[in-house]
Amino acid sequence: MTTPSKAHNLIFMPFQPIKSRPTADEVSRQIELLILEGVLHPGDRLPGERDLAARLDVSRPVLREALKGLEGRGLIESRHGGGNYVAPIEGTLFAGPVIDLIAGSQKAGADYLEFRREVEATAAAMAAARATESDRTILARIFSAMEAAHGEADFRREAALDVEFHQAIGEASHNIVMIHVLRACYRLLADGVFYSRSRLYGHSGSRDELLAQHRGLLSAIVAGQSDVARQAARAHIAYVEASLKADMEAGARAEISSLRLLQFEERAAATRPIRKKDNATDGDTEPSG
Ligand SMILES: [Zn+2]
Repeated sequence: MTTPSKAHNLIFMPFQPIKSRPTADEVSRQIELLILEGVLHPGDRLPGERDLAARLDVSRPVLREALKGLEGRGLIESRHGGGNYVAPIEGTLFAGPVIDLIAGSQKAGADYLEFRREVEATAAAMAAARATESDRTILARIFSAMEAAHGEADFRREAALDVEFHQAIGEASHNIVMIHVLRACYRLLADGVFYSRSRLYGHSGSRDELLAQHRGLLSAIVAGQSDVARQAARAHIAYVEASLKADMEAGARAEISSLRLLQFEERAAATRPIRKKDNATDGDTEPSG
């Protein structure tokens, strides 16, 4: 339970023996709760049947019935090559066609960050108030991994851990709606709907600043300082907003000036033949003059 959320191949999992009625319903309920509370993530592999049956203290037919029911409801999926996995059940904030619309909208991109800024400020305040020792351990471990990636200049890993860190803060809020809404938000990010994280991590100055901001956020949560955590989260996303805006404006300037250069060259090319033609005309008129 103290393992960071990168849990796709976990051997240890928090399954408890079913004490009361070892029925398939009881088994399903326990797995459902682990998914709902954000303990099990989409893509996490469940232990093998024999192992899981032993841990839950139920017979394998009962376990199989439960897994079949969960699979039928789209909560888990069995994959080729064996194994049961938590299905990709992140809620989508928007339906597919709407995603296409907002992906092309600059305002939607800005609104996305504004939404995250305020919601994550609340999540951070809740996390500071409610985080358990296990939550703090998870956050600290993700942050150490982030520091290591930063030290190795592994930007892709650092950017991925950034999202994992924010997700863990959402989980430490212990609010089920918060956990799933934020996960859906990060899903849009992972799909590259709004902006590319590599753009944000493309500048070394930004990377240092982002790491310092994450450190501040972590220490406020660990210290249980809700207001400090709220401000730290808000300032962090505001920084991301400002950086991306500056990046976009620089991009727009680059685009405009390259168009200007193109037009400049077109103009230069267009005026050359005219001059030649003028000369030719002059040449034509010369003999008669
Ligand atoms: Zn961040």
